[in-house]
Amino acid sequence: MNSLNLLKVAEEFGAPLYVYDAEKISNQFKRLTKAFTGVGQLRLNYAAKALSNISILRLMNNLGTGLDTVSIQEVKLGLMAGFKPESIIYTPNGVSLEEIEEAAALGVQINIDNLSILEQFGSKHPDVPVCIRINPHVMAGGNSNISVGHIDSKFGISIHQIPHLLRIVDLTQMNINGIHMHTGSDILDIDVFLYASEILFETAKNFKNLDFIDFGSGFKVPYKEGDIQTNIEELGKKLTTRFNQFCEEYGKELTLAFEPGKFLVSEAGYFLAKVNVVKQTTSTVFASVDSGFNHLIRPMLYGAAHEIVNISNPKGRERYYSVVGYICETDTFGSNRRINEISEGDILCFKNAGAYCFTMSSNYNSRYRPAEVLWYKGKAHLIRERETFDDILRNQVDAKTLFEQPKAEAIK
Ligand SMILES: *Cc1c(COP(=O)(O)O)cnc(C)c1O
Repeated sequence: MNSLNLLKVAEEFGAPLYVYDAEKISNQFKRLTKAFTGVGQLRLNYAAKALSNISILRLMNNLGTGLDTVSIQEVKLGLMAGFKPESIIYTPNGVSLEEIEEAAALGVQINIDNLSILEQFGSKHPDVPVCIRINPHVMAGGNSNISVGHIDSKFGISIHQIPHLLRIVDLTQMNINGIHMHTGSDILDIDVFLYASEILFETAKNFKNLDFIDFGSGFKVPYKEGDIQTNIEELGKKLTTRFNQFCEEYGKELTLAFEPGKFLVSEAGYFLAKVNVVKQTTSTVFASVDSGFNHLIRPMLYGAAHEIVNISNPKGRERYYSVVGYICETDTFGSNRRINEISEGDILCFKNAGAYCFTMSSNYNSRYRPAEVLWYKGKAHLIRERETFDDILRNQVDAKTLFEQPKAEAIK
């Protein structure tokens, strides 16, 4: 989808607005599938939390992905979107036994990441197949907030606890059908990833009834030209060889699973916001848009550098700008960016806005969350309405009567 299309969509649906290009999602899916053609059984479970609009989930189901979910609500959304229970894996962290039992009752694949719940669940439901999430303690990427495989991480069962894990499995006679890891959101170094995979293979040997090994995700996508990204093709070649070799040793053809979120949807997303004010100060030129970290928190939360383009004036002279929001709090989208000259009313386009953007949005400052549009086969389809004042009030209980005093009493 090009800038002209984006501008038209903004005119039709208004700003701020999220737009997702179905074709880009489909191409990413095909690219990942192609990189692993050498694997007999491949499962790509889309990580719903990246972008969980039901129409996006339907698109994924249509492409042939499975679904990776982290809450019972995501499980329910997935089922509503048409995924079969067996195509859904439920990989929560820190949730109650009751919620895991609820997911199991819906027939989805359970993935457990701590020994306490494993023991309780296994004792009560030894017949339900369970996948276990291992923490291989491998640092992937540099940002410890998004790297979840390290020693202090709350995710997964430590590989140093394997003896206890095996004891629980033995005592409960539960059925372990999958092994899983998810080391974080930045696979920069394929060798580090392959090293973690070896730990997973080593762990897998302890279990006789596996159906799959799930390598999680963490594929890095480029945010701007020249950015390093995960070399999917190289990873595909190397891991395929190693995986097939392992299956041979194991004596069974297992399914190789991944759970890409960002890889499938990040680059397919565009966030469009309108410039309210161009403000010149003594040190910079600010362009303030009708948005803030209530709609796109990644720059402030992770320091994510989303590319910003002025689609209203693509040929304009380039100038330096700091693009900020309208929230009463520092909400910088980008500092000292060279952008085609900005006028009030222009539409700025934020790239890589497909993953962890809308799903992390909020009503902070009592603002409405944006609308969402799916660009499919050359046409724009509204997939989420813009919020209204009713949404701000929804679930609020107005305790008006508490503060109403009878007149006479008020005088006393
Ligand atoms: C968030 C998450 C993913 C997706 O990670 P990306 O970096 O978006 O690909 C995969 N698996 C699990 C368990 C997750 O929590």
